[in-house]
Amino acid sequence: MSIQNISSFAAGHWVAPGAGARHIASAITGEVIATAGNDALDVQAMLDYARNVGGPALRKMTFHDRARMLKALALHLRQNRKAMYELSFNTGATQADHQIDIDGGIGTMLVFASKGRREMPDSTIYVDGELEQLSRNGTFMGQHICTPIQGVAVHINAFNFPVWGMLEKLAPTLLAGVPAIVKPATSTCYVTELCVHIMIDSGILPDGAVQLVAGGLGDMLDHLNCQDAVAFTGSADTALKLRSNPLILGNSVRFTSEADSLNASILGPDAKPGSPEFDLFIKEVSREMTTKAGQKCTAIRRIIAPEAVTEAVIEALSARLSKTVIGDPRLETTRMGALVSAGQKRDVLEKAALLGTEAERVFGNPDDFTVEGADANKGAFVPPMLFHCAAPDTAKHVHASEAFGPVSTLMGYRDLDHAIALANKGQGSLVASIITRDAEVAREVAMGAGAFHGRLYFNNRDSMGESTGHGSPLPHMVHGGPGRAGGGEELGGIRAVKHYMQRTAIQGSPDILTGIRQQWVPGAKESDAGAHPFTRRFGELAVGETLYTKPREITLEDIEHFANFTGDTFYAHMDEDAAARNPFFPGRVAHGYLLLSFAAGLFVEPNEGPVLANTGLDTLRFMKPVVAGDRLKVRLTVKKKTKRNEEYGEVRWHVTASNQDDEMVAEYELLTMVAY
Ligand code: NDP
Repeated sequence: MSIQNISSFAAGHWVAPGAGARHIASAITGEVIATAGNDALDVQAMLDYARNVGGPALRKMTFHDRARMLKALALHLRQNRKAMYELSFNTGATQADHQIDIDGGIGTMLVFASKGRREMPDSTIYVDGELEQLSRNGTFMGQHICTPIQGVAVHINAFNFPVWGMLEKLAPTLLAGVPAIVKPATSTCYVTELCVHIMIDSGILPDGAVQLVAGGLGDMLDHLNCQDAVAFTGSADTALKLRSNPLILGNSVRFTSEADSLNASILGPDAKPGSPEFDLFIKEVSREMTTKAGQKCTAIRRIIAPEAVTEAVIEALSARLSKTVIGDPRLETTRMGALVSAGQKRDVLEKAALLGTEAERVFGNPDDFTVEGADANKGAFVPPMLFHCAAPDTAKHVHASEAFGPVSTLMGYRDLDHAIALANKGQGSLVASIITRDAEVAREVAMGAGAFHGRLYFNNRDSMGESTGHGSPLPHMVHGGPGRAGGGEELGGIRAVKHYMQRTAIQGSPDILTGIRQQWVPGAKESDAGAHPFTRRFGELAVGETLYTKPREITLEDIEHFANFTGDTFYAHMDEDAAARNPFFPGRVAHGYLLLSFAAGLFVEPNEGPVLANTGLDTLRFMKPVVAGDRLKVRLTVKKKTKRNEEYGEVRWHVTASNQDDEMVAEYELLTMVAY
């Protein structure tokens, strides 16, 4: 077999391995299949290229432009995924594992592409949270905004997910508008290199947006500054070493880390043997132990079950694990492939031996197991191993030592508080699961264990058909955890994008804030275009453009007509005495919905025109009751415009309705689609 040269992609060029290159062996055969690394890589030139070429190009794009770019990139990767599957078998991963790594990575990118379009503005500044009223008359206000950091994100990834590990960090980084330098773990970097090749060759990314280091990172971290960020996944030891770099500490370089995690799964006290929950628990635990041969940051390392059922758990789990066919991952019959390398196998066996000092191995023997289609002595194969720890309160290693393979320890609990205490003994994890149908149990666990875990996953017969699995980090939800898990938070919807942006508090007048936000702020200038705004196309409408309507008097007949017509004959509109007894009303009042309908009647322009549809109404408040004889008038201001496609865009109008004394009676935001 020829040895593949794995190149870095640095400052726009592919750089082949050179001095200092390391050999990479196949997980299945142990043979050297590739070489990667080059001590002469010019890391300063890479950083400069990202900062001076990639960053400015990305920052010129709006969030929507970048979201569209991510979508195109993900679809292109999906078209080319077969080549990645083929290569990835060498890492020991099965086809099912590839679906988590390769398809999962692409799916994550698609979620960020979609969230970017739906939850971020078609603009270069992200408005974070609501306006803050800082002054009595509203002439001085506050608003938080986020803008992309102006440096580079250095992503250091673990060996276990060569594609997902890259894409889950890349998607929020690029969406934020920040270029990245990706450094995959050397042992599986050949899969990452192919993925980067596919992305670069697509021409979808601007120059400098993504670079790759295959092999060692050299002294790159010594050249970072306050505008840069490091996102690390790997062992706690390496995380500690890298984050204690004096330059990273001195320059307050953002450093997020996702490291070891002794994730737990708790069988709820209500989930008795024979229940659908018990079977679900066994299925989830065995799947987490064997998927990716247990090399998953979220895999279940500690199984926590009521003391009375530990025997039943051992029996059911052993029966299920015994069906795990171990072998060459290319074989369709194989359920569990190999660990990534001989070194990793050594590490797992050492850690398993350590667990053996505190727990009894009740399933799986590393010296006696069958491997289909491959040589067990050459490949990095190990069997699933289940331990039982009878004294989990005094044990140390079972809560602290992560055997990064198909290894898990069962421990019994006396009551729910004990189960929570055991789960928390991991001193911080990425995820803990609880299989229960009892919402009281769920609430107690959420309160008792939430602070120690980045994610709590509850499952039972009601959700199991659609649940996504204990071990699946979802782009929408937080991935990361406190303490031993690294203290970071990588995913979590738009939260993940904000990690690559600076949040800045902006204070100023309504006009200043309107200019920065590109969204009208109450108190800012209101302009009159001289024509009804409903006659103006999307491109012609300006933020701040305002329509003032004539007043309309509201009569008792109007209120009664509306009540009888709609069926809303609530006493506050129909019964003077009853309404007067209500502390909110002076007597009979107009329906809130009547006010909205009259408001529309006042501001609408009836003829066919560019306004295509009314798609909703947000933040509606009724502030003051309206009684018969009051005169209602409306103010309609263009608050925000969002282009949707080449045909139309969304216009968000700020609407206030007030009475004859200029007292506001209702306020809301109206959404319309307006033709281009
Ligand atoms: P490491 O911490 O050794 O490596 C992780 C990444 O850091 C790799 O890309 C590695 O590159 C890089 N790295 C290592 N040293 C340096 C350095 N001095 N400067 C810059 N980069 C560096 O973890 P492993 O991947 O070897 O895994 C070891 C253990 O970590 C596992 O057995 C498991 O316990 C834990 N782990 C936890 C994960 C989690 O998500 N919770 C995921 C993966 C591992 P290179 O490969 O070139 O050395």
